[in-house]
Amino acid sequence: MDQSVFEQMHLPGHEQVLFAQDPQTGLKAVIAIHSSVLGPALGGTRMWNYASDQDGITDALRLSRGMTYKNAISGLNLGGGKAVIIGDASKLKTEALMRSYGKFVNNLNGKYITAEDVNTNARDMEYIGMETRFVTGKSDFLGGSGDPSPFTAYGVYMGMKAAAKKAWGNDSLTGKKVLVQGAGNVGQYIVGYLVGDGAKVLICDINEERLKQAVNKFPGIEVVDGNTIFDLEADIYAPCALGATLNTESITKLKCPVVAGCANNQLADENVHGPMLMKKGIIYVPDFLINAGGVINISVELDGYNKERSLSMVEKIYGRTQEIFELSERENVHAQLAAMRIAEKRIADVGRLRTRI
Ligand code: NAD
Repeated sequence: MDQSVFEQMHLPGHEQVLFAQDPQTGLKAVIAIHSSVLGPALGGTRMWNYASDQDGITDALRLSRGMTYKNAISGLNLGGGKAVIIGDASKLKTEALMRSYGKFVNNLNGKYITAEDVNTNARDMEYIGMETRFVTGKSDFLGGSGDPSPFTAYGVYMGMKAAAKKAWGNDSLTGKKVLVQGAGNVGQYIVGYLVGDGAKVLICDINEERLKQAVNKFPGIEVVDGNTIFDLEADIYAPCALGATLNTESITKLKCPVVAGCANNQLADENVHGPMLMKKGIIYVPDFLINAGGVINISVELDGYNKERSLSMVEKIYGRTQEIFELSERENVHAQLAAMRIAEKRIADVGRLRTRI
């Protein structure tokens, strides 16, 4: 990467990046605040053994921008931020490291609020919370919101139903064949909704244990070979494992008229594969909206957690999905771009009312 950090921040419009280190605990962290226009920047802290510091910076910049869009389209009064701790979590993660990191978060005086992400958990949030109040996603027994997965799944169910209405004129999933890729935390909760509605679930995972778990819970579901899922005929494809599963090869094969799932960054290249889905007439629910249930849930914790309030906020994903489809049709743009335009408009309209920090 030849660009300086400032050059990398310039085009996406990042406001601030904090580099933090504490040699005593081994902490090396990057906190990226993309936007605080709608409110404090909320986004999780990822711990990853990046090949280089530059890779960590690039990831923090990319992910924080994504959070701006996710929080904006979800109607939250929160901006976008994300942090990375550079290092091997299995070797480096200690109470002292997490608390040291918490002190740096605290120094930002609430401009950035952190939460769990890859390789950080509710226990880590407790440690961070010993040094700062600007942390969310704590365990439920500490008054926090607990596991976000069921809320993410509920949001996916809402987005899927809105997509079904667009595709088939009513939002019932009864009798629909749904291909779920990934029987993980969120995937299994989604299967629960689908089975409850009388949908026919086809499922795959590379982890046999997860598959067994899912089949034990929902005996009627059918396990399929993950290598051939794009050859299968189904009504809905629900990517619930990795990102970038919507690429030129998979979309060329894809036989499902609807795509709605929880995975992050589903489009390998949004400028290529968003239009490609549209051209093929496939209804796609943008990932950063449909999987926002988890972030909506942790945002509720900031004002004192209430499960019913959280669920009613997550439910709005249904209506927002419909708004995206309407704009997509009106402006003849693919769904991901329509969703980005809605988020950008909200940031511009509502942001104008706020004093920029
Ligand atoms: P998870 O790790 O519990 O589940 C992912 C599952 O996918 C695992 O069982 C894994 O074995 C499986 N998998 C990996 N590669 C696969 C492949 N090639 N084919 C089939 N299965 C494969 O994670 P999760 O919390 O359920 O999250 C799933 C996705 O949703 C991730 O992309 C995550 O970033 C995204 N997401 C999760 C949340 C949340 O609340 N947990 C919120 C927003 C987005």
